[in-house]
Formats: sequence, structure tokens, C-alpha cells
Amino acid sequence: MTRTEWDLIVVGGGPGGASAATVAAAAGLSTLLLERGGRLRHKPCGGILPEITGELIEDVFDSPLPPEVLSEPAELSLRYTPPSGEANGGRVRNFRLINVKRDEFDQWLRDRASLAGAEVLHEARVIEVNATNCFNVTYHHEGEDRQAGARCLVGADGVHSLVRRMLNPDAPSPKLLVGQRLVSVSEEMPSDFHCVFAETLSPFYAYTVPKGGMLKIGSGMTEEARTDLMPSLDRFSDWLESNGVAEIGEAALQEGWAIPFGEQLLDASGALLVGDAAGLCNPLSGEGIRLALESGLLAAEAIVESGYESPVQNYRKAAAGMVRMVADLHRVVLAADDESRERFIVAELSR
Ligand SMILES: Cc1cc2nc3c(=O)[nH]c(=O)nc-3n(C[C@H](O)[C@H](O)[C@H](O)COP(=O)(O)OP(=O)(O)OC[C@H]3O[C@@H](n4cnc5c(N)ncnc54)[C@H](O)[C@@H]3O)c2cc1C
Repeated sequence: MTRTEWDLIVVGGGPGGASAATVAAAAGLSTLLLERGGRLRHKPCGGILPEITGELIEDVFDSPLPPEVLSEPAELSLRYTPPSGEANGGRVRNFRLINVKRDEFDQWLRDRASLAGAEVLHEARVIEVNATNCFNVTYHHEGEDRQAGARCLVGADGVHSLVRRMLNPDAPSPKLLVGQRLVSVSEEMPSDFHCVFAETLSPFYAYTVPKGGMLKIGSGMTEEARTDLMPSLDRFSDWLESNGVAEIGEAALQEGWAIPFGEQLLDASGALLVGDAAGLCNPLSGEGIRLALESGLLAAEAIVESGYESPVQNYRKAAAGMVRMVADLHRVVLAADDESRERFIVAELSR
């Protein structure tokens, strides 16, 4: 089996992996990024970023977001409907969101990693990882199994992370399911990211996002209630119609995926975990792209600062605030009821 040697191997080429690979390669580390999907691989996502993410992207990737990764409309406002109904909802003042085409966005990030000097392989599926005196990674690429070795490993392979499972099989990784449909709508497209909080629709929230002339509708569900995921989208379609928000037409796409929901884990057998693989996703909003970009950056910086000998302590220290924030929000979500959701939205709308 052919084998190559690297300073760092990054498994997964989403925002977390692209960020880690870009920062490490730019600092001079020989870096291999292995991505299971092809170019423009699809990731189920709303593609919504808080406006401040633009600055983080510019810092990490040394470029502003190019127009071709932006969806139409490129800028959205945030609209909330509380459990008591539309009459008490509204737009959050002075709050802007960036609307991206997720597949194109991720490809641009991986291309920036290449430009920074990382070797980026698409259709390279990692099938085995082990940690001895270095990390050994076996991956399938161009019809054959190959091996790569490195002193450092970053697991950025998402919510079902193989790196996390192989290097710490006992670590639980609870999830929250999210279903989405891309639908046509007959009248004028709403220009906001609309979050609707109602126990009858979802124990979390349901949302709409305009995407280039279509509307994405989504809803979250516990793992135990998985069979209710798609029915919750039917209920939400009815809700949108009966509240006069939109007349829902044909679905061009229906998909379900997951986000991590509790149990943050920054490292496993010396490998650093970032983004969804580390459980770093906002459990209240489902926002994970920014946390993936930021944890990828912190992981790479920890590796560079430690002379890539033992980056774990540096990374734990740097990412502690992020872990605390996600854990605190997780407790808030677990304790939430319609009364606290109502209070949260009243506070958001009056700020
Ligand atoms: C339906 C839905 C909607 C969402 N909407 C939003 C949103 O609007 N805004 C937001 O900020 N967040 C959103 N999120 C969360 C967000 O998508 C994730 O938090 C984010 O993608 C995490 O980035 P990541 O790099 O950690 O992982 P991912 O983006 O999942 O990237 C992991 C990569 O690893 C690759 N991979 C996996 N296994 C292997 C392997 N064995 N070998 C090689 N490669 C592998 C995958 O192909 C993938 O490219 C949403 C999530 C869902 C499910």
C-alpha cells in the first residue's frame, strides 16, 4: 500500500477541516486534507451565517467571501414568531445574516486551503485511523486503499465523526435531527430567516430561508421522535399557508441530517476534534459553521504553537470558552418551555 508522511492530516473538508488545513499550511506545515465527497459535495444546511462570520472568514482565508458563493438574497434579516403566534413576532433590529450556497461555499473554503499550500484530496474516504507513536490513516482513493502518517491529526469529519468513534469508542455523541425541504412558493419570497417557535410544530423550532427563488423549510426533532421529522415539515407547510406567510408548492428536495446535541469532546487519543466532530454546534439555533471555522483555526494554532509535539493542552485552553458556551446553551435548551421561549423572543425583539 502506498504511504505518504505529513506534519498534519485533516479528516473532513467542511468549514472546520478547511479552516484547520488553511491555517496550518499557511504556517508552513505539510498538510493533507482528506474529503470523502467530490468537488461541490452536498451538505444539508440552511447556509445562514451571522454577519460577523465574514470577518472571521477574511482572517482565516485571507479573502472576503466571493459573490459566487452567496445565495439570493445575499443578506437576510432575522424574524421570530413566538409560541403565542405571529401577532407577537417580528424582525430583530439591526441584525443581519449572510445567506450562502453551502456546497459552493465549502468548495471555495477547500480551494483556499489548496491555495495556502495544503494537499486537498476529494473522493478520499478515510476508513481507519489509529494512534501509535504517530497517527496512521487509511483512506480509499482512486480505486485503492492508501495510507498516510502524520505527527498530528485533526478530526473534522462532522457529526458522525469516524475519527471520534475510532479513537474514543466509548464517548457518547447524542444528536438532534434536522429535516429540510426546498419548495417552490407562489407569491413574493420573504426576505428573512424566519424562526417559528411552537411546540405543535417542533420541540425546538421550525424555520424558512429564501434560496434563489425557492424557499427552504426546516424543523428540528429529537432522535427518539425521528419518525415525526418529515411529518413536522408537513405541519409547518400548513402553518405557513394558514398564517399567510407563503403558499407552499412542489418540493424539489427533501433531506434529513443531524447536529451534535451535547457531549463536547475536543480531543481523542491526542487527535484534535473540531466543529461538529467535537460537538461544537449551537444547540439553541443549530448554528455550527462559525464554530467549526473557529475551532479549526484554534486547533491549527495550537498545533503550530506547540511545535506540533503535544497540542492538546493548548487547544483545550484556547477552546474552553467555546465549549462552555455550547454546554450552557445546551442546558438552556433542555430546560426550555413555551413560557421561556416567549420571554426569550420578547427580549430579542426589544433589544
Ligand atoms: C439541516 C441542517 C441545517 C443547518 N443549518 C445551518 C445554518 O444555517 N448555519 C449554520 O451555521 N449551521 C447550520 N447547520 C450546522 C452546520 O451544518 C454544521 O455545524 C457544520 O457543517 C459543521 O462543520 P464541520 O466542518 O464540523 O462538519 P461538516 O460540514 O459536516 O464537514 C465534515 C466533512 O467531513 C467529510 N467526511 C465525513 N466522514 C469522512 C471520512 N470518513 N473521510 C473523509 N471525509 C469525511 C464530509 O464529507 C464533510 O465534508 C445545519 C445543520 C443541519 C443538519
